[in-house]
Amino acid sequence: MPPPPPPRQDFPAFPFAPYPIQSEFMSFLYSALSSGPRALALLESPTGTGKTLSIICSALQWLLDHRDAAPERANGSGPAAAGGEDDDEPDWMRDFTPLPPKKGVRKKSETHPRRRQGTRKVGGSEKSEGTGENDGEEEFLLDEYESDGEEGTRPHAAGKRPHCGGGGGSSSSESEDEEEEEEATPKVYFTSRTHSQLSQFVRELKRTDFSGKLRTVCLGSRKSLCINMDVQKLGSANRINERCLELQKNKKSSKIKVEGDNKKGHRTKTSCGCPMLRNRSLQKQFRSEVSDHGALDIEDLAQIGRKVGTCPYYGARDMVRSADLVVLPYQSLLLKSARESLGLNLKNSVVIIDEAHNLADSLTSMYNSKVTSSQLRAVLSHLEAYLNRFQNVLGAGNRRYIQTLTVLTRSFLRCLISNEDCSSAVTSLTINKFLFSLDIDNINIVKLCQYLKESNIIHKVSGYANKLFFTENGAGDLNHGQQHGEGSSITSFQALADFLRSLLYCNDDGRIIVARHKPGGHSEDAYIKFVMLCAEKTFSEVTDDAHAVIMAGGTLQPIEETRLRLFPGLLPSDIKFFSCNHIVPPESILPIAVTCGPSGKKFDFSHSSRSSPTMIEELGRFLCNIVTIVPEGIVMFFSSYDYEKQVYDAWMASGTISKISKKKHVFREPRSSVDVEMILNKYKEAIQSCCSKGSGDTSVNGALLMAVVGGKISEGINFSDGMGRCVVMVGLPYPSPDDMELMETIKHIGNYSSTSSVAGDDESLSRDDECKVEPGFGILRKSGKSGQEYYENLCMKAVNQCIGRAIRHVNDYAAMLLVDSRYSHTSSGRGFSCPVEKLPQWIKTRLTCGQNYGEVHRLLLQFFKINKQIH
Ligand code: SF4
Repeated sequence: MPPPPPPRQDFPAFPFAPYPIQSEFMSFLYSALSSGPRALALLESPTGTGKTLSIICSALQWLLDHRDAAPERANGSGPAAAGGEDDDEPDWMRDFTPLPPKKGVRKKSETHPRRRQGTRKVGGSEKSEGTGENDGEEEFLLDEYESDGEEGTRPHAAGKRPHCGGGGGSSSSESEDEEEEEEATPKVYFTSRTHSQLSQFVRELKRTDFSGKLRTVCLGSRKSLCINMDVQKLGSANRINERCLELQKNKKSSKIKVEGDNKKGHRTKTSCGCPMLRNRSLQKQFRSEVSDHGALDIEDLAQIGRKVGTCPYYGARDMVRSADLVVLPYQSLLLKSARESLGLNLKNSVVIIDEAHNLADSLTSMYNSKVTSSQLRAVLSHLEAYLNRFQNVLGAGNRRYIQTLTVLTRSFLRCLISNEDCSSAVTSLTINKFLFSLDIDNINIVKLCQYLKESNIIHKVSGYANKLFFTENGAGDLNHGQQHGEGSSITSFQALADFLRSLLYCNDDGRIIVARHKPGGHSEDAYIKFVMLCAEKTFSEVTDDAHAVIMAGGTLQPIEETRLRLFPGLLPSDIKFFSCNHIVPPESILPIAVTCGPSGKKFDFSHSSRSSPTMIEELGRFLCNIVTIVPEGIVMFFSSYDYEKQVYDAWMASGTISKISKKKHVFREPRSSVDVEMILNKYKEAIQSCCSKGSGDTSVNGALLMAVVGGKISEGINFSDGMGRCVVMVGLPYPSPDDMELMETIKHIGNYSSTSSVAGDDESLSRDDECKVEPGFGILRKSGKSGQEYYENLCMKAVNQCIGRAIRHVNDYAAMLLVDSRYSHTSSGRGFSCPVEKLPQWIKTRLTCGQNYGEVHRLLLQFFKINKQIH
């Protein structure tokens, strides 16, 4: 093992002279990476402090230095990539790749015996194969499937699928001739939540020398990268994925055609259903063009794909192996199945997780699964139709598994309808209790999931269901036909398969939420959902492999909660933590806890009093006043869409909106995310037009945007400069205590910490298999200090996200008004700790408590006057 690179203070790739906090950040990150293997560091740096650039310049410098110190690694003598040889294979192929033959697993013929005999019995009658009315249904028949051994031996799937990614116009011999790219190790994996955050990363990367020096690849979803217009127009990510995978499966018919041509003479040729993957040489051309361009984001990749005429989604995947830096969304890196499907090898690599402020919750939610009663009904009817049609030609293995699936689906449906011994429509159960209560604990779910994965049953049954749909509803194109019912037939079946896979987790890893059909309610409201509670197991798969894991974010507090949920095995001293102040001078921000309104009424937006007309009126009065002193844009956050509507409606009726409109154009965050961009553009234009003509004392001087905590606007939207001169946070946005999933998480955290050394004095919750459905506040009371802390942290993380929308760079300035008397609590003698303690340090140190409206007014006037002079 070569010695680690010595500590560094200089980072020559940084495009300008760094601020001291940027230098400190880079040195800290560099030495954290040098302390690997299995290093773990959390770096907190407020938005607008050049965090991304600092990450790039330190992590990539470390990569180069590390390789210089270990030339044998750079030469490719590092560990081989897991699954690297099939990197360019589509998901379905990798998923369906059979395991090496095991003792006790009997290889089956790929072709059903009856088909080999040239006749088959369909619908009870013998038909001649290849002729007559059944031609179109041959494709829906399953290959024979049978597993031997009753002890969970993995069954054998039909033969390995030929290479499809770009395999269309090429023979197998051509594939073999193609040189496999050498794996670059170690790599840096950079992951963030959204595509726009990843694009921002690539933009920053382009500002440095590393853009040309290191091989970078950006991975995205099919939805962002698909260039097949027929598939793209399906709209939703699910449908695009399904259609793409279906197209890959359509290779079979091409195979027959090619066999007829037999141009190569000696090998079978296969062809992908998607024309964008048929020519392998175009994929090569794509890779070479991308390499020539340096760092590219998703949009750039899609553009090159369009220009070359080949699929950029699979093209980018093919480049992972040789890349030094892989930029990818959370799902692709943190979800085990996605990592396997993409062939990502984290061994000895550096994993950087940005926007990590809610990592544990993001991680657990990726492992959730849900199936609704209408999806179950659809699957049941499709299975029955399929079995009815093909049972005489299906082998015993297929028949048995399909019947088992039918039994399970019926059981699930029954439990959603019946409400016998349950007083509530929503129940929460452990996995074991759920299986016992439905009397399905004797079913081997492991083998059933294996069957679902290997047999191709989902596509066959769904394909046949679609065919029946077309037959019954007249001819239509496939894309249209797939949209019938609740999602497509594949979506429904996949939801069931995902849910079944969730049942394989350990009993304490998660909970099953059963939301039964309410009398008079919509049947779509009924569902079964697996909620993953345990984040540490899935996260340890990343930390165990990687050389170092870096979590970065604007604010990562509370560190102790993160430790308990993600790496409880580590001592607090094992975690490297860096936090820095903002680069903006203190006079550029004005955070105020606003305790009362202009008429002296105390602001209390707790659940019980926020709807009172006097509270809403006082808030209106307050806003009417501040719109006269705050220039340009004000973004005002409410705790929910419903509450925002309630306030807006009341203000409309009372004339408050019309008063506000005399100074600010009023906009509201739409519920539909499709319209968000349009509203944001209008808001921006309104501010710009007011500023450009110069505002007089009495004219409109900007705009007000009424937004919602947890909505689209509260995260990821940049309200720099005039777009957000003031952020108003109305109340404390605690999540609803009626949320069963949230309460399960709180109980899990309460239980967990009560057994750990950290919170030994917590009152432990019962670990009963079935939870009593009790009001959320009851659960909160019992959940002990750590459960309650988590609840309050959720609230304050949301507040921090909202107020962090303003102040995006060193020359920015903004006021932050926290409107609720609870923001003025300084004592932690109450049940909950003081909420403002959870504000980021750089805001907390500047926080002023406005004891009366006059004081708030004076502070605001002074703040904007001074900053107008400075900027
Ligand atoms: S262009 Fe790519 S992602 Fe789109 S359908 Fe074809 S293979 Fe799939």
